[in-house]
Amino acid sequence: MNPETGTGMANKSPPPDPGGYEDDDARVRELLRLCYEDGILPRDIDPGEMAVQGWNVRFKVKDSFDRIKVQWLKERTITVIFRDAARFLSRNVKEDLIRAYEDEKVQTSEFGKGFSRGRVKLESLNVASYVAKSTTIFAWLMEKQSAKVVLGGDTYRMEFNLWLTKAQLREQRRLEDLSTFWVITVQVPLDAMFYLEAHIRRAIDPVILTHPPERDRLKPTLVNIKFDLDPGARPNMKDSITVDTFEDDELEVRRASSDTPRCGKCRAFFHTTDECRRGGRFHQQQGGAGGQGGRDDVAQEVSSRQIYHGPLGRGEASVQPATSVVGGGLAQPPDISFANIYQNLAFMAVPQAMQPNAVLTQLLQELALAQAGSSVPLG
Ligand SMILES: [Zn+2]
Repeated sequence: MNPETGTGMANKSPPPDPGGYEDDDARVRELLRLCYEDGILPRDIDPGEMAVQGWNVRFKVKDSFDRIKVQWLKERTITVIFRDAARFLSRNVKEDLIRAYEDEKVQTSEFGKGFSRGRVKLESLNVASYVAKSTTIFAWLMEKQSAKVVLGGDTYRMEFNLWLTKAQLREQRRLEDLSTFWVITVQVPLDAMFYLEAHIRRAIDPVILTHPPERDRLKPTLVNIKFDLDPGARPNMKDSITVDTFEDDELEVRRASSDTPRCGKCRAFFHTTDECRRGGRFHQQQGGAGGQGGRDDVAQEVSSRQIYHGPLGRGEASVQPATSVVGGGLAQPPDISFANIYQNLAFMAVPQAMQPNAVLTQLLQELALAQAGSSVPLG
């Protein structure tokens, strides 16, 4: 019985902040190492200023502290981007691909005994962060910039970039947007396609590059076409172009550019993530031709988002289920099809009880071949 509350349960307040934290550079760096290399979360660091907001709590962490953290991560973290078909490799294969590089260095004993692996965190389907155990591996990958790995006859491409914080990514995107100007014509009707480039040239500016048409995510029967233009022509941007035909019909093509609202969820233009009603009634209204059409749109959109089609897609027939997943672990929820190295006959022939290192061995062999031509000496 607790004498103060009159119940058997003690209602504990959070402990008082003991304060008096030292935060010299060397100590913080050692704590960072323990955290990201050994997985030990520091207990006695300055938690920052706490503000309780109802059921939520917010901490403003100490500037000097946070700067050291970012600096430490930037010295050894690489953002790995899986291009094209490599996006659809399973989680485990992606991790193995990244780690194959450090494994190669360990095998040639360049790091001596007791060297253990860096941390891989998959951020999304095509992006992973890799915290290298050594700044040497970091420098080596940054110098390589990209890698092509051939697995069972297919080539998978990875790019290695500097890791950026959220704020730095935002700033990078802003600068990119300033230095480039593109227009996407959205949901182009067949008979308006003919005039597109000439109309853009006349109304906005001559086209520098016309990208291959891509299936529209909301209406897969229509295509979107992207045009690169001179950034100086940005003030000429038009939201839509209407074509009057000889039969007095109107064909309207909507334009989107980097300033157009775009949904982070379904990647469609003209609505924001907050306004997204993907999978809701929104699409049935958009479908126009009754509920059935609307439902199809939703299903199409979900599948076209998840499956790599190449520039114009390979049609609905390309939706293939993963035939066999051996020790791979799914990169996405299991109901979604994806290209997978195990669809390759060479991999399917591997017995169920394959050794866990078989894939890695294969990777290392392929990697050795891939690097034979363009070996970057380790500094
Ligand atoms: Zn959306």
